[in-house]
Amino acid sequence: MTLEQLQATLAQPQHIVITTHKSPDGDAMGSSLGLYHFLIQLNHSVTVVTPNEYPVNLHWLPNNDKVVIAAQQSEKAAQLIADATLIFTLDFNNLSRIDQLAKLVEQASAPKVMIDHHLEPSNYAAFMLSDTTASSTCELVYVFMQMMKHINLLNKQIAECLYTGILTDTGCFKYYSCTDRTHAVVSHLVAAGVKNQEIHERIFDADNINRKRLHGYAVAHKMYKMENLPVIITSLTSAELDEYNYETGNSDGIVNVGLGISGVKLSAFFVERDGAVKISFRSKGGFNVNEFSRKHFSGGGHANAAGGGSEVSLHETIKQFETIIPTYAHEFFE
Ligand code: 5GP
Ligand code: MN
Repeated sequence: MTLEQLQATLAQPQHIVITTHKSPDGDAMGSSLGLYHFLIQLNHSVTVVTPNEYPVNLHWLPNNDKVVIAAQQSEKAAQLIADATLIFTLDFNNLSRIDQLAKLVEQASAPKVMIDHHLEPSNYAAFMLSDTTASSTCELVYVFMQMMKHINLLNKQIAECLYTGILTDTGCFKYYSCTDRTHAVVSHLVAAGVKNQEIHERIFDADNINRKRLHGYAVAHKMYKMENLPVIITSLTSAELDEYNYETGNSDGIVNVGLGISGVKLSAFFVERDGAVKISFRSKGGFNVNEFSRKHFSGGGHANAAGGGSEVSLHETIKQFETIIPTYAHEFFE
């Protein structure tokens, strides 16, 4: 599908589904709802469908109540995907990232449009806006509106959604991925009505006390440094999550604590959730966690932030990691 063909398609009313990766984060939900608020202005019927639930600090996003969560409304989600005339897939680039929705999206007759910034995109989309240098998928939704020649439709709702994803995916404008273009986009978002401090507070000052205590426990009791390597490991069992009344999102961010220790080049966080082990990797410098996670833990992501999983126990997974990582020791001391 060419850009002109996509523009022509969007000039006619469509039944559109926007979907995003499992356990959606700020960029996933911000980009999906930002695109939603753009497309409804073009008179399409639009639904955001997520594979599962996402953290409560994203529930304030405008029209959050219209999102269909497939884990809770599986038939409705399946029907929407089957009936769609166009499907947008946001903030992921491999259908395995949408779990139970993968088959439905693959089998759907609608052409797929990918908007994403992760490395090594797979080839399922008829139209791809894949820019691995972009700070966030939210930044690319802004670029997409420009490409569609409709940036004039930017309103406060879109701006709030896109600001949220840029904020969360750049570590509050910290990472190198946050470029002059990112700041130019943010400037426009603020001009369109974003109250920056208000959004920071909604995202980062919205913890419940259980989340704070879980973080405190993980750091105090479950975080350690590997001997002779600048590598931090932290883990949580499902029993420990239960003890702190775990809610979606409550363990997010623990992985970043390890990277805040002087000299640390790699932080790995392992958590036992929904009967599987979910892993988060964060690195500083040249150690490429996208490649590492793809190779060893069926995952992927970005060069300095990636995720993965494992089918064996938490204990076994950590043992595997501890066995593999010394073979990369030279990369940490370059
Ligand atoms: P997080 O550690 O916050 O879950 O994810 C870090 C980055 O890696 C995010 O951009 C996320 O989308 C991506 N990511 C997380 N888990 C996986 C995974 O299992 N596979 C792939 N390909 N990417 C992942
Ligand atoms: Mn993202």
